[in-house]
Amino acid sequence: MNLILYNLIYLICFFPIWLFAFPLDINVILITLVIIVVGVFFHNIINKYVESKILFNAYLALVLAFGIDNCMSIFSDFLIPNASNFAPVNVYLIGFVFLLIFFAINLFLLKKTNYKGVLIVLSFIIASLIYSLKFSDKNFENFPDFKKTMVNYKYEKMTLVFVMDQMAGINSDASKSELGKKFDENALIFAKKYGAKIYENIYTQCPMTFQSIPKLINFDYAKNCDELENLNYIEKSNNFFNEYLILKNRFFDKFNSIAVLQSYHMNFCKNENVKICDQYSQFKKYDYVKGFKDTFLSKILGAWKHHGSISGNISWRAFLTLNLSDSYEQSGGEKGSFVSLLKKIEKKLITQNHDLIFVHSLSTHNPYGFNDKCEYSGKRYINYSSNDQLEAIKGQNYDRICILKFLDSFFERLTEKKLLNNLEFMILSDHGTRLKPDKDSTFKTILIHKDFYSKFEKVEEKKILQKTFSKLMN
Ligand SMILES: [Zn+2]
Repeated sequence: MNLILYNLIYLICFFPIWLFAFPLDINVILITLVIIVVGVFFHNIINKYVESKILFNAYLALVLAFGIDNCMSIFSDFLIPNASNFAPVNVYLIGFVFLLIFFAINLFLLKKTNYKGVLIVLSFIIASLIYSLKFSDKNFENFPDFKKTMVNYKYEKMTLVFVMDQMAGINSDASKSELGKKFDENALIFAKKYGAKIYENIYTQCPMTFQSIPKLINFDYAKNCDELENLNYIEKSNNFFNEYLILKNRFFDKFNSIAVLQSYHMNFCKNENVKICDQYSQFKKYDYVKGFKDTFLSKILGAWKHHGSISGNISWRAFLTLNLSDSYEQSGGEKGSFVSLLKKIEKKLITQNHDLIFVHSLSTHNPYGFNDKCEYSGKRYINYSSNDQLEAIKGQNYDRICILKFLDSFFERLTEKKLLNNLEFMILSDHGTRLKPDKDSTFKTILIHKDFYSKFEKVEEKKILQKTFSKLMN
């Protein structure tokens, strides 16, 4: 085979498209380029020393299969959305079967067309690469972040709301173990320390995030979890970087200058009063907690996976399993960067430029990842299984104990800076652990609230989260 065509096949198939889609550190870019150059060397060694035509064709078919997968996002755009149709077969295994099919087609083409088929496959890959680079929504320009120009007004009174996704409530299913009792105790001490009300028997009306939160922020406490579609509070997002878009937000309508710190799950930033929209992203700089592997390897695997190829996803999962890298996605990165997020919020509070700072964090969501020292543990994260309920409860407890500890240090700093007196804050969750369908597992939430004048109080009466939020904030 012509040497130029042979090397062109390599360069096109191993084109690191995700380097162009996402904003990566120059060091990550350089390391990736070095890996590709080393690959060119091995590619040519194979050309020189592999004499068996069958082996040579098999190698080329493999490179082309990688190329086909690399230019499309089959794993994220097709396999994950249809994962339930393949159940109980593991989605990574299905991905592997897809790669095998690409390999077999390439091998057949090479054999039948005597390398002319290579040009057909290469043309397909080039067209897909151009489409993906130019027209796909996987471009960081579509990331929802923005910062509007603000009048330099200083708000004397500020409100801070933390929606901690899946954080189990006081006296919930997670509170029945020794660790859980420790959390309940710590939460009471926390509420006492900052003069807040803590709700011991509070339940969300709906079990799902896309029901619970839109109802909450629209002061809606009718029994309508299943009819929410007609209310136009929320829709499925057509932006690659979000799952849902909040359309209506009566809570936000009450403020003038809002800073939103959100996760990929829900975009709150469409409301016109939002002046700063800041969404967690693995491509931004954070100081990760001790134990979190914020390394070149995690970054490269994270970006490769994020672009959605099968090979990227299988590699990402394999390195996680070997405990050689950590996950920035699916709550991992948000757990690792929570302390960093609190520092960001502190800076925003100091400016007094916002009357509302609204946080939606997945740091308390499964898979769980903190250990007993509140260090991040990739092993705990990867071994998480909701089938092992005792372990899941343990994970929830470690995580909520650690997150509360980080919040405590944060509020201590606010007290020192005399910011607490001018602050109304609320820490709540949208649902419980959801390990069982019963009320103490799925529906029991956390709610700690301090307004400008309140004193510590333990509210034992049974309450509805959305109704209580409406009473306090509407
Ligand atoms: Zn949730």
